[in-house]
Amino acid sequence: MDAVVEEILRLKKEKGATILAHYYQEGEIQELADHTGDSLALARIATKVETPVILFCGVHFMAETAKILNPEKIVLLPDRKAGCSLADSCPADKLARYQEMLRINGRKFQTVTYINSTAAVKALSDWIVTSGNAEEIIKRVPLDYEILFVPDKHLGRYLQEVTGRQMIFWDGACMVHEIFSVKDLLDLKRKMPQSITIAHPECPANILEHSDFTGGTEAMIRHVATFSEPKDFLVATEPNMMWQLEKRFPKHRYHGVPGISCACNKCPHMALNTLEKLRDCLEKMDPQIEWQPFFDQSGEVLRRSLLQ
Ligand code: SF4
Repeated sequence: MDAVVEEILRLKKEKGATILAHYYQEGEIQELADHTGDSLALARIATKVETPVILFCGVHFMAETAKILNPEKIVLLPDRKAGCSLADSCPADKLARYQEMLRINGRKFQTVTYINSTAAVKALSDWIVTSGNAEEIIKRVPLDYEILFVPDKHLGRYLQEVTGRQMIFWDGACMVHEIFSVKDLLDLKRKMPQSITIAHPECPANILEHSDFTGGTEAMIRHVATFSEPKDFLVATEPNMMWQLEKRFPKHRYHGVPGISCACNKCPHMALNTLEKLRDCLEKMDPQIEWQPFFDQSGEVLRRSLLQ
């Protein structure tokens, strides 16, 4: 076994830590995690962890969510700078001003916020959704209310289409999902006419319209599980997801859809977490997510949206 992995496992035991890893983490990190999952699954798992420490291998808003749902636990994030372009696209002060402007104009609305957002933005929201539960949560918004959907305009448009609800969109997007190349996707489909394209709803409409299946990462796993014969899947989401698919369903072949400016579309924020940083953070018990005053309000919204 790799020396760094051995150290991580020793420290994990010594400090009483549970390791949670998102599907967009490198395979070597997913391999040693106690649990892997999407944002919704990991948020729910975090509430059942029995150890005093959670080492969250993902990005800042995910570790923040784990801390909010588990105030008494120490939540570590291997790299404090592991952020998210989507969360950054919606600063809380800007959202508060926009909501005020809508109210002044007499608009009756509820704010539905994608989990990829800061805790300060969650505190300004009525509901939090993930790609896994969005349709179900949107049904809870009374029909006489408009929906302000933040921050992902592509996911918002997709949800408007599948739910039939009119929405006001925030102009945010994920830097990874926004740049898949439709030309390269069509080339791959021509080369592999029997292939099946699976795409994340954070992708723009021009990718989704050429996909056979649209869904978040957990939904992708459930979809791939329905194929008994070996298939070629074209995968339009962060490429580390293919590690998880290969591990679960090794009989299939997976091909990442390339990006316009980058051949692999890796999330640079997720990539900041490395095995060495996992070890160092367990050793020093730092960086930790510190409790912020607005976590109480974001906690209320998170609990009614994800746990009830
Ligand atoms: S893949 Fe996109 S949404 Fe996910 S953490 Fe990276 S930048 Fe944020």
